Order: sequence, then C-alpha cells, then structure tokens
Amino acid sequence: MPDAPLDILALAAHRDDVEQTCGGTLLKMAQRGYRTGILDLTQGEMGTRGSAGDRAREAADAARILGTSWRGALDIPDGRVENTWDNRLKVVRVLREQRPRVVILPYWKGRHPDHYTASVLGYEACFLAGLTKLDPDATANDDSPQHTPQDAGATGNPHRPFKIIYATLYYDVRPTFVVDITEQFEARFEALMAYKTQFSDQEAGKGIFPARDEIRSRIEAMARFYGLMGGVTYAEPFLQKEVGLVDDLTLIPVKSI
Ligand SMILES: [Zn+2]
Repeated sequence: MPDAPLDILALAAHRDDVEQTCGGTLLKMAQRGYRTGILDLTQGEMGTRGSAGDRAREAADAARILGTSWRGALDIPDGRVENTWDNRLKVVRVLREQRPRVVILPYWKGRHPDHYTASVLGYEACFLAGLTKLDPDATANDDSPQHTPQDAGATGNPHRPFKIIYATLYYDVRPTFVVDITEQFEARFEALMAYKTQFSDQEAGKGIFPARDEIRSRIEAMARFYGLMGGVTYAEPFLQKEVGLVDDLTLIPVKSI
C-alpha cells in the first residue's frame, strides 16, 4: 500500500517531458508541502542516446531535484503510446493507488503522437478510475463473478481526481493560466540537465540534440514569454477546460493596463 494520497500527479509520455512542461510548478507545490508525483508512460528505450536503464537513473535524479514524493514508469512502448483499453487500465491502477486530487496531463494537440495520445489516454483513465464497478485486474471476457472492491486490493477502490489541468508548453496555444516559477527556474533547469545522456554536449546524435547553452536559451525564452503574460519573470503555461470561479474582484491577479 502506498503512503498518503498524492496532492498532484503529472502524467506524460516520456521521461523528461514533465521536467520541460511543468517541473517548476511541481517543485513549487512540493515546497509548499504538497505530495507530488510523476507518471511516465514509457521508459525511453527508443532514445538515440542512452539505454532505458540510464534514463531510469536520470529520471530518479530529476525527481529528487523536483522534490517529488513518487515517480513511476509504465511499460508502454516508447514511440507507440496508444489509447487502448489495456493502457487505460494501467493508468487506472496508478490513479487508484496514488489517489491524486489534481492531475496534470499533456495538452491534447502536438507534434509528437505520443504526447497528444497521452493526453486523451490520461483523461479517459481519470474517468474510468472513478467507476465503482470497474476492476482493472479482472481479465477481459472473465465469466467469474466480479471482484468486490474489498478483495481487489489497492487498485480496487475507485478514485476520480477532482481537477485535471493541461500543460501546454509543447504547443502554441494561449494558456488559461500560468504558474509563477521565478524561484524554481534554476532547479527546474537542473532537473532537465539530470538527463545527462540526452542533454550533455557529446558527439552521438549531435545533429538532432542541441547543446546545453542552446537548450538553456530556449527554455529561458519560453519561461520568460509566459512570465510576461502573468507579470512575473518566469512562468509555466496551463489550460483548464472549466471557467475560473471568482469570489472577490479585487483579488484577481495579473494587471490589465
Ligand atoms: Zn516527449
């Protein structure tokens, strides 16, 4: 059985996606005392540089820098994230074990099929995880009686996250809100640099992998861009499908003119 439920779980297709899209936000929440977690759907075995084992170690280092309480990776094939029933059930098991209140998903459009597929897969798993009669461990076409939640173990208790938000940094879409990560920017960059096989200056794959200085400039430019939108130095962009609920007009942040 896991410890306390997670407050926030970020789900993404690849190790290092979360570091790039919402790592600063996760660190900020951890610094506020929340329990945060990361679920990577794949293990990075298709990467040009480094093995899946290398990437697992690097992911653990990055998670430490971001102060996360939990990090897990599923065994969905890298480069072949598909929204299948089996894959949805894999995510359902994690959601029921970790019981997050907030789930951060990738935005549902993008260049990489794994990214946008992870978004829909994650959303549908959040819905399924709340179905009382769904037993993710029952085999398909099983004629035997359904397991009750009591005998189905940790993955048998339904749980639906309260809130789903989308990390939009990989796609050019206007966010509905940004999170100020000015204080977390340096640590978030170091978390990304923990993926040494991917980002250190080296010969293999030189044509497709930019050097560290170039990465830093890009990451800083993006964080500055979204920071400007929110009137702060650095920020990360998010989108929520729901409207914002306001109680006091005088406390709405971000200056208009
Ligand atoms: Zn990715």
